[in-house]
Amino acid sequence: MTKEERIELANLLFPNIKHDRDYYEKKYPKRDLPKDAMVTRYGPSPTGSVHLGNLLSAFADMVYAKQSNGVFYLRIEDTDQKRMVEGGIENITGVLKDFEITPTEGYGYEGEYGPYIQSERNEIYQTYIKDMIINDYAYPCFMTEEEIQAIREEQELNKTKIGIYGIYAADRDLSLEEVKKHLDNNEEYVIRLKSPGNPKNTVEITDCIKGKMKFPEHDTDSIILKKDGSPVYHFAHVIDDHLMHTTHVIRGDEWVSSVPLHIQLFELLGFEPVKYCHIAPITIKDKETGNIRKISKRKDPFFGVKYYEENGIPIEALHLYLATITNTNFEEWYLNNPEKAIEDFKFSFDKQAVGGTSFDENKLVNLCKTYFSRKNGKEVYAETLEWAKKHDEEYAKLMEDNKEDLEKFFNIEKEGPRPRKDISKYSDVKEEFSYALDELFEKEKYSKLDSDKDYDVELIEKYVANLNLDQTNEEWFEGIKNFSIENGYAANNKEYKANPDKYKGNVGDVCEILRVIITGRRNSPDLYSIMQILGKERINKRIELFKKIYK
Ligand code: GLU
Repeated sequence: MTKEERIELANLLFPNIKHDRDYYEKKYPKRDLPKDAMVTRYGPSPTGSVHLGNLLSAFADMVYAKQSNGVFYLRIEDTDQKRMVEGGIENITGVLKDFEITPTEGYGYEGEYGPYIQSERNEIYQTYIKDMIINDYAYPCFMTEEEIQAIREEQELNKTKIGIYGIYAADRDLSLEEVKKHLDNNEEYVIRLKSPGNPKNTVEITDCIKGKMKFPEHDTDSIILKKDGSPVYHFAHVIDDHLMHTTHVIRGDEWVSSVPLHIQLFELLGFEPVKYCHIAPITIKDKETGNIRKISKRKDPFFGVKYYEENGIPIEALHLYLATITNTNFEEWYLNNPEKAIEDFKFSFDKQAVGGTSFDENKLVNLCKTYFSRKNGKEVYAETLEWAKKHDEEYAKLMEDNKEDLEKFFNIEKEGPRPRKDISKYSDVKEEFSYALDELFEKEKYSKLDSDKDYDVELIEKYVANLNLDQTNEEWFEGIKNFSIENGYAANNKEYKANPDKYKGNVGDVCEILRVIITGRRNSPDLYSIMQILGKERINKRIELFKKIYK
């Protein structure tokens, strides 16, 4: 076809396209940003629920844009209308809100580069496709499903590459007359890329994460516009990231194989290509087989994002975990910098794992514990209450009725150089501090203890009768040590071991009896602090309760 014929064809195929490329290029001018500012986007398809892998790439989008004073925007990629799920879009925006991964622009947010949902951009895509037809980079293809299926079967049989190219691209060089005939017959068509590629040539890209990568040139006449006039994902990606001025495309590495097509489209359209940053998948060691595999929604509960909210994993702690997956040096930095927050860390692509990053539950738990250890009693109280209001109303009510006490309990052993590390999630708090509330304590009573041990309650009664709760911790310990000695216990374990027949035990044993009676457990945070908050009356009540159960 001559250029004139292609212009005629383009007008025939797209009679309603009002604008040309220049119009959109002007409408979406270059962003006014500092030189190295990154423009990133999260481009989810509303085809299912959001999982940890999605959160990870959105998190990376956010931190890289933020630290470079750039833009992180949300674009809904709904080109595949058949796979859309109901409520899918609301789910995406809801999850981003809940997990505080907040775009600065995009769908549901302000912005000058919209619409930020692909199904509302067909006119834009078609404008560029019309231009590609004129430039002989695209053509209408009228092949039927049956014809394509037959080609596929033949290719499978001959073990040749699947797709429409070379001899299989029957409509690539139709004359204008032939195209018109098809159109007059009202035949359905798609628009295919007229790929100039040759697989003997290589394309090379430098992925920000994976480094240099080489591929054979893309050479199949891939569909770019579907029968219904909407584009395929690949085409929408190139147009949108060009017009929205994305600088870095951070996405899962399942897209690596599409890079040659994307690069070809950028070239044919005359756009500067984006920088690709392909994130390695999250992997896990399969409990049954011991093999490393991709994490899966079906097998791994923590892959779905609901898990985090339901179990009460703090959002910031999850961010910490996402940060450790994003940069391999993050965790060490965080542990060594107790005063710092994620915003103070400088993320960089060369610290991103190239292969799979394995999901490590212990690491998550450990980070969560560190997170809680750095929060004081009031903070733990406020955050836990917030969570409990949604997930455990009864506990929330109890918490509200005992605010002051609980804030004190949660603050025990928080102020020293090595703060207490016991809580890893909001849902741990109730159980971990059950001794702090009489209602819970009485329900649980001494259920965690084996009943065969002989505890000397009289000794404790005697001790508590003269207990002074206004001392320092050191004075208190001196006191209980003296009391123990007076009552036939050694001052420490060493003395006891040297002469076991002489003593009933050592001061540690006396403390244990006291601890067991007061908290119902053998391990607890600092006992004297607990007693101070409880006060004598409640301590005596627990002694009575213990006597009823154990005697
Ligand atoms: N819409 C694509 C997906 O949900 C995103 C791919 C991309 O980020 O380029 O997988």
